[in-house]
Amino acid sequence: MNSMSKKQLPILSRREFLTTAAGAGGAMLLGPAELNAAGEGVDARTARVISGAIGIDMHNHVYPAGTEPHPWHDQAPRKDEQPPAPELSIAEEIKESGLTAACASFVMDFAPNKKPGDARDNLLSWLSAIDAELEKGHIRRALNMNDLRAAHAHSQPTIVQTVEGAHFIEGHLDRIEEVYKRGLRHLQLLHDKDDMVAPLGDTNTNPAHLGGLTAFGAEVIKECNRLGIVVDLAHASHETVLGALKVAKHPFIVSHTSLDSWTGKNPKTFEMMKPRLIGREHAKVVAETGGVIGVWTHLTDSLKEFVGSIKAMADAVGIDHVGIGSDTDLLSVRVGQGTNKAWPGLTGGFFNEVAGEMLLQGFTPGEIGKVEGGNFCRVFGKVTDGRG
Ligand SMILES: [Zn+2]
Repeated sequence: MNSMSKKQLPILSRREFLTTAAGAGGAMLLGPAELNAAGEGVDARTARVISGAIGIDMHNHVYPAGTEPHPWHDQAPRKDEQPPAPELSIAEEIKESGLTAACASFVMDFAPNKKPGDARDNLLSWLSAIDAELEKGHIRRALNMNDLRAAHAHSQPTIVQTVEGAHFIEGHLDRIEEVYKRGLRHLQLLHDKDDMVAPLGDTNTNPAHLGGLTAFGAEVIKECNRLGIVVDLAHASHETVLGALKVAKHPFIVSHTSLDSWTGKNPKTFEMMKPRLIGREHAKVVAETGGVIGVWTHLTDSLKEFVGSIKAMADAVGIDHVGIGSDTDLLSVRVGQGTNKAWPGLTGGFFNEVAGEMLLQGFTPGEIGKVEGGNFCRVFGKVTDGRG
């Protein structure tokens, strides 16, 4: 890059680059030549990376505006303990983050499911609440890659509809198609508790008692592959994942975790999170299917550490199999849980700040694009290809 073109590329202030990037609808992929302007400031380089990348958070808890976040959650703060939640909609939070889309998850087994049928009813009413947001035009729901490309090109805050725990199925395979028709394109089979009627497989937090993936769990994976729903094996035991490897016809993902060699600095937190982390062998099974592992923000106290955790995962399975699954609450009343406030001092929006830090830590623009969404899009595109 000669000095003439260098002059033509202003070094933007952080605020300016965020504004520019938020409105940018640039080309999907920028080649290294366009991105390697010698001497260009990090902010300007970051802006270019952001404008060229589809940013996806593979695991986020999102609540429709007007509903109470964590209606089931014991840890919800008392109103007098914390300042009231800011009046932000999902759309504004996604815009602020710089993400193109978040995989919007409803945690099935935290909701009060007292009898068979309750879980299905809860999920359907949550989908209806999201439908109401769609009707207001606040957000969009991506059903395929064309939708994600449009979301990126036109800066339309978008969600990929997902659920944490497939407890709504309860032995009824046809319920998967029912929610597919309602826009669900990403299904995390397991969470903490077993399905009340027909468990799908052992989790990584409870003692193994099902022999890994159950026969019905295998049917669920096949049905997801048939319909075009991304299979997510977060919270699954190693045996369960090995079972999935035998039956899956498409790549699968583990949307939120980190390597068990990444301990963080707080031994107490590590002890708690340890069962939910995965070893290299487990990670390699996911990569073997062509899948992606989303690195979460847990066990990291800063943006710098988070990127360190991403690096550790990339070293273990290769850059083509790493994504981001923040496991935060995009819209949350709990201070410090909102994605855009994942760590103290995060002011420029989650996705933008992560891109900047990755550049600082030596990732190339191409690698950043893969981790921040490209790898997830590869799987999403393959699974949903040709389907509406
Ligand atoms: Zn989880």
